[in-house]
Amino acid sequence: MSDKKIPPPPVLPPSEFKMKQNFCLFHKGEIKGEIYTCPSCKSKYCLECAINAKNEGKKCVKCKQMIFL
Ligand SMILES: [Zn+2]
Ligand SMILES: [Zn+2]
Repeated sequence: MSDKKIPPPPVLPPSEFKMKQNFCLFHKGEIKGEIYTCPSCKSKYCLECAINAKNEGKKCVKCKQMIFL
């Protein structure tokens, strides 16, 4: 079964691609409401998740930058 060809990934419609750009890595879902942008890597998170992360001493998932709020 190892010689089985992998099918090409499905092409996402533009609306879904746009949604993926507002993906919060803290709660692993679409960002709703206000957005917090990491000053270091420009990753976007929910403002609410960023506040929670800061309170819990968590850092940016991508670059480990501290949350500045
Ligand atoms: Zn970052
Ligand atoms: Zn979030």
